[in-house]
Amino acid sequence: MQRTLFICKPDCVQRRLVGEVIRRFESKGLRLVALKLMTVSRALAEKHYAEHAGKPFFEGLIQFITATPVVVGVLEGNEAISVLRGLMGPTNGAAAPPGTIRGDFGLSRQNNLIHGSDSAESAAREIALWFTPTELLDYQLADEHYVSGGE
Ligand code: GDP
Ligand code: MG
Repeated sequence: MQRTLFICKPDCVQRRLVGEVIRRFESKGLRLVALKLMTVSRALAEKHYAEHAGKPFFEGLIQFITATPVVVGVLEGNEAISVLRGLMGPTNGAAAPPGTIRGDFGLSRQNNLIHGSDSAESAAREIALWFTPTELLDYQLADEHYVSGGE
């Protein structure tokens, strides 16, 4: 079992697509471990996107992510990190394949609806950045044996 962090970015919230996005996570079988609506401070945005500091799009990205609220959460499941990245699709919405969140709902490189951790190291760092340990809930869903069991 892995945990991964997702963010429904401001464009996702503004376009009323949060329910659609979380529905896809639930349908796939991922389990919500944490969830909150919040406005992102500049300090948190800069820490979250530290790997992109200095790139030409960095300032625009920070402005975008801090402008209006996001929904941020943690998902758990078999190979949750790569599963979430697959559900999201590649960065540029215009190139993302149909069936993915970015491919179905966007045309932009920046306003691509969703963030997902890209590795186990990123997931651990990002979960600790956005949530306190007590916000991460430990529970089971009744159908998990069927969703994730077997080979
Ligand atoms: P991700 O892991 O697919 O989200 O992509 P990256 O880690 O490479 O970039 C982080 C975020 O920065 C992306 O999700 C976009 O919102 C934004 N971004 C990435 N590349 C570009 C770009 O070339 N131009 C602009 N304007 N934004 C970008
Ligand atoms: Mg990334």
